[in-house]
This record gives sequence, C-alpha cells and structure tokens, in this order.
Amino acid sequence: MPVLNGKELRIVGFLCNWCSYGGADTAGVARATQPTDLRVIRVPCSGRIDPLFIVKALLNGADGVLVSGCHPRDCHYAAGNFYARRRLEVLKQFLPVLGIDERRFEYTWVSASEGQRWQQVVTVFTDRIHKLGPAPKLEDPEPLLKIADMALTSLRSLGTGQNAALADLKEAIKAKLPELDCVLGWQQGYDAAHTVPLFMKTPEDVDKLVWGPFNVNNPAVYLPSFKGKKVGIVVKGCDSRSVVELLQENLIRREDVTIFALPCEGTLDMARVNQDLGRYTKIDGVTYDEAGVTITADGKDHRFCMTDYAQGKCYGCTTPSAVLADTLLGQPVKVDGAPNTPPELALLDSMTLDERLAFWRGQMDRCLRCYACRNACPMCVCRDYCVSDSRDPHWMTQEDSAKEKLFFQTIHAMHLAGRCTGCGECQRACPVGIPILALRQQIARAVAQLFDGYQPGLNPDEVPPLLGYEVVEKNIHERDWK
Ligand code: SF4
Ligand code: SF4
Ligand code: SF4
Repeated sequence: MPVLNGKELRIVGFLCNWCSYGGADTAGVARATQPTDLRVIRVPCSGRIDPLFIVKALLNGADGVLVSGCHPRDCHYAAGNFYARRRLEVLKQFLPVLGIDERRFEYTWVSASEGQRWQQVVTVFTDRIHKLGPAPKLEDPEPLLKIADMALTSLRSLGTGQNAALADLKEAIKAKLPELDCVLGWQQGYDAAHTVPLFMKTPEDVDKLVWGPFNVNNPAVYLPSFKGKKVGIVVKGCDSRSVVELLQENLIRREDVTIFALPCEGTLDMARVNQDLGRYTKIDGVTYDEAGVTITADGKDHRFCMTDYAQGKCYGCTTPSAVLADTLLGQPVKVDGAPNTPPELALLDSMTLDERLAFWRGQMDRCLRCYACRNACPMCVCRDYCVSDSRDPHWMTQEDSAKEKLFFQTIHAMHLAGRCTGCGECQRACPVGIPILALRQQIARAVAQLFDGYQPGLNPDEVPPLLGYEVVEKNIHERDWK
C-alpha cells in the first residue's frame, strides 16, 4: 500500500544488483509490507550510478529518487560504493541551487540479507516524498528574470594594472622564445576596448602583448591542444589555477609549459560594460587611470570604475598572483579578509527553492544552446565526445526546451565537480549573459565543505577529491532511517 492511501507518487529507485536488489527481494520473499510507489532500476553497482541519472529523473517528472548499494567495505567490486558516496553527496548539496528540494533524493546502503532494513528505508523515504508532495515542474513556474543589484565589496582594491611590469615581461618572454614553439597571451582586438588571444612566435609578436582589465579570456583553454610541444603562457592569477588543474589531471606536462605571470588587479565584466555603452558604431579610444577606464564611443565618454564593473569573480579573488609561475614579475597584491560568497551565488542564495526553479526557467528559456560556455571552459577537454552531442549514449535530445538546456548546464557543472577553478569563462563567453557560474560555484562550495576546504588548481600534486575516496569519510555520514 502507498503511504498515502490511493495516491502514488513517482519514485525511482536505483538498486545495486549484489546487495540492495537482493535486500528488496528478501523483503518481498518475507512478504514485508511496503509502499508501492518505488519503481526499481537494477544496476550492476552503485558506482555505476552517474549523478546525472538522478538529475535526469528529477527533471523529467520523478517526485523522488532513491539510490541504494552495498554497505561500505561490502562492495562486490571492492570500491564502487566509496566513489558513489562522494559523488552522490556532492549532488545532494547541488540540487537546491537548481530549485530542487534535496530531500527528494537520498542514498543509502542495504545488504542482501537486510529485508527488514529495506522495508524501513523504502517506507521512510516514500513517507518523506508524500509529505513533500508532487515535485514542482520546471515548465510550470512563471519565468523569473530577476538579476539583483548586489552590493559588491572587494577583498582588495581593484585597478587597471597600468603600472604592471609589462616591459620586463616582454623581455623575459623574448629571452625564452627560442626554446618555445609558441607563447600564449592577449593582444588588442578589433578596437581598444577588446582583446583577443595572441600566439607569440616571434619578438614582433611579443611586442603586441597587452596587459590590463580587458584581458578577460583565459588562455589556458588552448594549452591541451599544444600537447607534445613546448609552450609558454602568460597568466593572471585565476588563469594560473586552470594551468595547475590541467597539470593535476595530467592533461599537460610541467616540463612542456613555461608560465609567465604578473599580479592582476582585476578584469572588466564586458557584458555589463557593453550594456552600459549601449549602441555605438565605433570605439574611438580608451584612457586609463588608477581606478578605471574611460571608453570613448562615437565621440562620447563613458567612465567605468573597476570597483563597479569588475567581473564577479574578481571581488572575491584570493589568487591575484599566479599560484605557479616560472617568471613572476611585479609586486605581489595583498588580499585582505576571508573569501566572500560570489555575487552570482549570493543572488541564488537569497531566493526560495520555488524562485530558483522559476529563475532557471527564465534563464534557460533565453539559452541559445550555442555551447560557448563549454567551449570556453579550460577544463572541458572531452569536447569531441561531449554527452551533449553524443547519440550513444543518447543523454540529451536536441529539443529547444528549458529542461534540456538546464540538464546540459547540470552536466557541465557535475563534470566539473572538484575540477572547476572558478575562472568564470563559461559565464563570460555566454552571449546572452546567463549567470551559469552560480551552478559551478555551488558545486565548488559543496566540495570545499565536504573535503577540508579543497580548492581545485592550487597544488599540482593534489588529486581532485572526486577521483578518490576515504574508507571513512570525515564529513559524510550515514543518515538515520527511523
Ligand atoms: S579573478 Fe583575480 S586573477 Fe582573475 S581576473 Fe579577477 S582579480 Fe585577476
Ligand atoms: S566551469 Fe566555468 S568557471 Fe569552471 S573551469 Fe570551466 S569555465 Fe572556468
Ligand atoms: S553560452 Fe549561454 S547561450 Fe550558449 S549554451 Fe551556454 S548558457 Fe546557453
């Protein structure tokens, strides 16, 4: 009988073949009374359960999802459930930022002999879902396009970096150039208010290198494509974390990469700058002072103070100087105070679950499915095999629905769990200004809370936490089923 007489809800259960499926069988053989809402999907191991199975079920109408595997230390394949535990706990902490109540998902362990425990687990979980009621559907809420004006306080003064030791940096690059196939950096783009990537192969190329608040791109995205070559790269602090993360994942070799760095004073949020510039036909020029830039467009001056127009990530930046560099010039920038909540995430934090669902409905309705967010991400390295394009397995349809687009964003965020360095390229590259960085920031927050403040891209010798496990996890605890 269902917990609420006469009304079943849709609950999906992923059960491992060796323990929990046996436990459910034992409960059935013993004729233990159970609610009937659960639809069981049998999987070889809890380690086989991709967290995306759960998100897909929840986005497609499941009211609850239960995962059950062998108890830790009892896994038929030795360690599948240890890996599952970390991934599933991160997912549980991620769901609320999408607007999904995390109580709609639970995971646990039931052995083949524990028919009674299975009965308890399924009854308690079904009861919980009935108390929550049918899950709100992404398509139902009225789209919410709220983007609050956040009061942003920086951990240090932001500036335009015009006193940076650029001439010294150019000399250092020129000295090293004969040993390198190419050095990556930035050059002025189609006007003085935009930069584009620079691939330096000659001293004349090095002379084109620019430094300042328009250097918004992260050149680390190009590094894996230079595999096997000797390459140099000029980095800001945040870019250097991407380089370190690529080293952590053996996607590049330390001996192949030469890192040049200057301390960074911040970069501009070009989406906000362009919005305030409005329509123009020509940028006449840019002038700099300590605190900001003045862009002259069609003869009219527009002033952009760094404290008001920096990228969100710069306000809480704790690594203005490169975390790893072969040549680090200029004076280190001092960071005051503890990291603050990034503005995109603070905006989501200020909403209720229902508002978040409506927020993503509104934002995803605008998404073009252009995948610029993925293509700009330095850590998204399996682009040719990305599940968003794959027909086998067929994870996503080509439908232009908010649900499919939010699912894609969830894929990107989950695949970056414990790996995303918060460089913000995904959001910066978005042509319609969707604040998708918040999804990555929530995962990063969950990872830091679960794994002793772990932050990706700080130490080349560290292993990302979701690539490993502890037999006894310090911050992940078995939940009570009474
Ligand atoms: S996050 Fe830090 S290093 Fe990166 S652009 Fe902003 S201030 Fe510079
Ligand atoms: S997901 Fe976004 S913030 Fe994270 S590494 Fe990729 S581009 Fe940077
Ligand atoms: S870059 Fe923006 S519009 Fe393009 S797929 Fe990503 S979120 Fe959608």
